Amino acid sequence: MEIPPNPTPPETQWERDWAAQRRLRRVTSLSSLARCVGRGFRKRCPKCGKGAVVSGFLLPNAACANCGEGYSHIRTDDFAPWISIMLLAHLLMPAMISVERLWHPPFWLHLLIWVPVSIEFVVVFLPRAKGMALGLMWALNIRGDEHQY
Ligand SMILES: [Zn+2]
Repeated sequence: MEIPPNPTPPETQWERDWAAQRRLRRVTSLSSLARCVGRGFRKRCPKCGKGAVVSGFLLPNAACANCGEGYSHIRTDDFAPWISIMLLAHLLMPAMISVERLWHPPFWLHLLIWVPVSIEFVVVFLPRAKGMALGLMWALNIRGDEHQY
């Protein structure tokens, strides 16, 4: 049986940090990562799935009320708004373009339709995106204050 060659040792500081970070991840498979993100989407604790991870509109809980896992050290910053913007753009822009191409409504009607729809989408989805960001970052053991390269 042929023994595979050892992988090339990390050379740069970035590669050494990345290799060290991989060893600290809380999940090892894509399905468990998806489960953590899904629990975050339901605004539930990525670890146990029962306690709330987001309270109010966007305030992350310091710790899960059920299992006690802490989340106050995770900084999601602009991650949740970016997720919302990306999804909003990909869902609403085709709808806006389709309405314009099919019925050519006046501009004021576009405003009347799409501004409330966009605001409603953000109000509903942004806290879930915050939970998804927390779930993903918790699963990958990312705090959000790592060194920038
Ligand atoms: Zn929990």
